[in-house]
Amino acid sequence: MRISVPTEVKNNEYRVALTPAGVHDLVATGHEVFVQRGAGEGSSMPDAEYTAAGATLLDDPAEVWARAELLLKVKEPIASEYDYFRDDLVLFTYLHLAADRPLTERLVADGVTAIAYETVQGTTGGLPLLAPMSEVAGRLAPMVGAATLMRSAGGLGLLMSGVPGTRPATVTVIGGGVAGANAAVIAVGMGADVTIFDTNVQRLRYLDDHFQGRVKTAASNPLDLDRAVTASDLVIGSVLIPGAKAPKLVTNDMVARMRPGSVLVDIAVDQGGCFADTHPTTHADPTFAVHGSVFYCVANMPGAVPNTSTSALTNATLPYIRQVTRRGWTDALRADAGLAAGLNTVAGAVVNPGVATAHDLPL
Ligand code: NAD
Repeated sequence: MRISVPTEVKNNEYRVALTPAGVHDLVATGHEVFVQRGAGEGSSMPDAEYTAAGATLLDDPAEVWARAELLLKVKEPIASEYDYFRDDLVLFTYLHLAADRPLTERLVADGVTAIAYETVQGTTGGLPLLAPMSEVAGRLAPMVGAATLMRSAGGLGLLMSGVPGTRPATVTVIGGGVAGANAAVIAVGMGADVTIFDTNVQRLRYLDDHFQGRVKTAASNPLDLDRAVTASDLVIGSVLIPGAKAPKLVTNDMVARMRPGSVLVDIAVDQGGCFADTHPTTHADPTFAVHGSVFYCVANMPGAVPNTSTSALTNATLPYIRQVTRRGWTDALRADAGLAAGLNTVAGAVVNPGVATAHDLPL
């Protein structure tokens, strides 16, 4: 099969859809891989590594798209890429079509077979192609939190671990799923005093067992959350209610009662955020003040570490790419119901119920 990987064109997107190791894997099994020259540069993966892995480098994005039977991307195509669409093209990328009517209409009009990373389901549930980005954002959260706790960043001037004879930071993680558990791993590793809140008691049992006493767990209810948040130096918001906006669990009044210089990192900002005062920020200007506290609400946290994010993404997508290249997309989807759940548009129709409902389109 002919597989293409263009350079991402969305503003501030430094990831690329396939690592040199991914190219090597596909070439070794007899496929042709075309990579746009410079596509890996933002992830510190130079052209020479792609060539050595067996990729053919191309300069012209139009040619990269034109050669593809299967086109791999990271972010959804933007308007300048719509003219590359064809009805014999299989597109595999993050799409988020429920929030993008113009793209949905073009994919349908041009008959593209579009498989969205974010709707592919795992064999035991979960969203295996979203999980790696939650892992990255979760692990990053205590790091940006620790940096923001420094006086120079507007924080209260507290070292996460403290030193012998001084107290460590008190960290509350709200939502102990993929992002929250990964946030706890790093916060504990930095020596903080960590409590994870979740509404799912089964999940708390797992976390309690997993962390072997190194974190406290707490059932999430408004009273206990209020007590914990107002006593925290760092609050990390990582709740998710699938398909819904995040609940506002930290109110403006709670923030007003926090210690000046405390820090709140809202990972759930991409679902509207779980703090009342959250609004999306960028890596260029990541924080803002609310009362005396500092909020960090960057909506694409993995963009800060594209080398890691690109590798984590390829690790997760490659097994599915192998299925599609080995069997062809129709048989691959027939054989794997989880991958089939990724199909969003095909042959001029929307086939994902959530996307159809969002745009009031027939299934
Ligand atoms: P997940 O489903 O693995 O975990 C969410 C957890 O929240 C679950 O354990 C759930 O029980 C818990 N929860 C739900 N309601 C709660 C409540 N009221 N109180 C406490 N816990 C509650 O989800 P995830 O993969 O960890 O993703 C978490 C969030 O991070 C999502 O909004 C996701 O979109 C976001 N995310 C953001 C970035 C970024 O760059 N900002 C990157 C990746 C993921």
